[in-house]
Amino acid sequence: MTASPAYVSPNYDARPDGMQIDMIVLHYTGMESAEVALERLCDPTASVSAHYLIEEDGRLHRLVDDRFRAWHAGVSFWQGLSGVNGCSIGIELVNRGHEFGYRAFPDAQMVALEALVSVLMAKYQIAPSRVVGHSDVAPTRKQDPGELFDWNRFAALGVGLAVPVGGEFTDETPIDDHSELMGLLRQIGYDLEVPQAALGAFQRHFRPAMINGIVDQGTLAAARFVAQQVAQEMA
Ligand SMILES: [Zn+2]
Repeated sequence: MTASPAYVSPNYDARPDGMQIDMIVLHYTGMESAEVALERLCDPTASVSAHYLIEEDGRLHRLVDDRFRAWHAGVSFWQGLSGVNGCSIGIELVNRGHEFGYRAFPDAQMVALEALVSVLMAKYQIAPSRVVGHSDVAPTRKQDPGELFDWNRFAALGVGLAVPVGGEFTDETPIDDHSELMGLLRQIGYDLEVPQAALGAFQRHFRPAMINGIVDQGTLAAARFVAQQVAQEMA
């Protein structure tokens, strides 16, 4: 794996004392082109950055050294911790996003990402439930990397969590009592300050074919499935 030396970001600071890298946050750039995104992530007046950026053809750029805190997630929360930049590595995937023409992530880009995430997970002992999307950690503000990101492909390689497609997970029968689902979302790691946003983020990641914003049997089954995997990790 080689990184292009052309772009380096000045937008970082020290990780908080005693904070280890134990998380990866995936993003899409949501801009017109890779060049525009790279310029912005390296612009000292923009105050945003990520550790890595992967172009659609798989080209990898390392913008910030892992040991520093890059500024990618903003106000965020996961598994009890607020401000996940302190403990995470941020990876930007070039994609025009929901604003400029959201499209599938090409195979070459996914292959490069899978290789990078595998290396980082091994190096820093990162658990699959701590490889998340920006929308998972900032559900009221963010949608990236979004419903076209193939978490199932990712999970099959052990580099993230996903729910199998189809079966009980497609059951759209509504449920009136939301308490079990909300308890499971909290256990998985979501911030429940805005429950509807947490539900939307969960569906975007774990049931991307059916983001209906409704507490239904399929979503509950998916949440039980994911919560069980998280519990096994922590056992
Ligand atoms: Zn993002």
